[in-house]
Amino acid sequence: MEEQTIRVQRSETKKEKPQSDQLIFGRSFTDHMFVMDYSDPLGWHNASIVPYQPLSIDPSSMIFHYGQSVFEGLKAFRTESGDIQLFRAEKNLERLNRSNDRLCIPQIDEEFTLKAIKQLISIEKDWVPSAEGTSLYIRPFIISTEAYIGVAPSMNYKLIVILSPVGAYYKEGINPVKIAVEDHYVRTVKGGTGEAKTGGNYASSLKAQEIVAKQGFAQVLWLDGVEKKYIEEVGSMNVFFKINGEVVTPQLNGSILSGVTRSSVIELLKHWGVPVSEKRISIQDLYQAYLDGELEEAFGSGTAAVISPIGQLTWEGKDMIVNNGETGELSKRIYDTITGIQYGHLDDPFQWIQ
Ligand code: PMP
Repeated sequence: MEEQTIRVQRSETKKEKPQSDQLIFGRSFTDHMFVMDYSDPLGWHNASIVPYQPLSIDPSSMIFHYGQSVFEGLKAFRTESGDIQLFRAEKNLERLNRSNDRLCIPQIDEEFTLKAIKQLISIEKDWVPSAEGTSLYIRPFIISTEAYIGVAPSMNYKLIVILSPVGAYYKEGINPVKIAVEDHYVRTVKGGTGEAKTGGNYASSLKAQEIVAKQGFAQVLWLDGVEKKYIEEVGSMNVFFKINGEVVTPQLNGSILSGVTRSSVIELLKHWGVPVSEKRISIQDLYQAYLDGELEEAFGSGTAAVISPIGQLTWEGKDMIVNNGETGELSKRIYDTITGIQYGHLDDPFQWIQ
């Protein structure tokens, strides 16, 4: 792909920025966005940074009917010295292209898109909050824009990157949550789209989440979509268990999203010499480990929270209370280390930061 130039149209007005302590996830957006179009035979073109604004799209655009879309989620962090850091952004763009492949969306130039994201952030640098735990959430996404209501891959697309300042995930310290093991609904199936970051996966997850929320649970633990026997993910996070000194996480199998935080946790544990393995884990075996007193810690991993400790898992009416419902030592150590690297308090031996 030929390198394009990015046209910049500055906004004439500036929005009022929310106070650092009043940031609500995903509710406010910066003054500009990055947009790029795809059409055949031009490929990706019209790369521009323009004022944040509504889109004008034909109602017959394919995105509205068959959901051919993908997205990513990553963050920029402000360090104590005022610099702005990205955490493993190239991994998110690689994953965006894997999602594109699954959804029959044309590949993007990852390097160019990263460059565009950096330019957008540098224009919006005053929007990167500096209070502890806050960050700038980056949401790249691609939608199918061809005006046609036939089921087929769209001929036209729009890639958009919007930015949203977000507050600290844990305002009162890292907190364990209660999780319900979902044994009716499934998130995805083998051969489905679970490994891709596409809207349909999230739309189909809402029902189970809505039901368990009424019962007082924070999230569901998803089991595999065929036998409902093997553990996949927790809510929209990957999941880890510390069992008898060893950390285990479900192996990637095509239906689990390959989390950037997941891979960071695995690398970190290996670096520390903590035994860690990726394998198939059945809910029955997990329950047995709990009964045997070997389930020491459980946590979710993802960009939003980094680490979300699990204090209780409920499966077919049976409660597993993990680490007395408190945050485990290893969970806390992983959380402190990854956030320490993200905010520049700690060295970055893995070169995760740009
Ligand atoms: N699983 C799902 C379904 C997700 O939506 C996310 C969030 N992207 C994750 C896992 C965690 O991925 P990451 O660590 O890259 O945020």
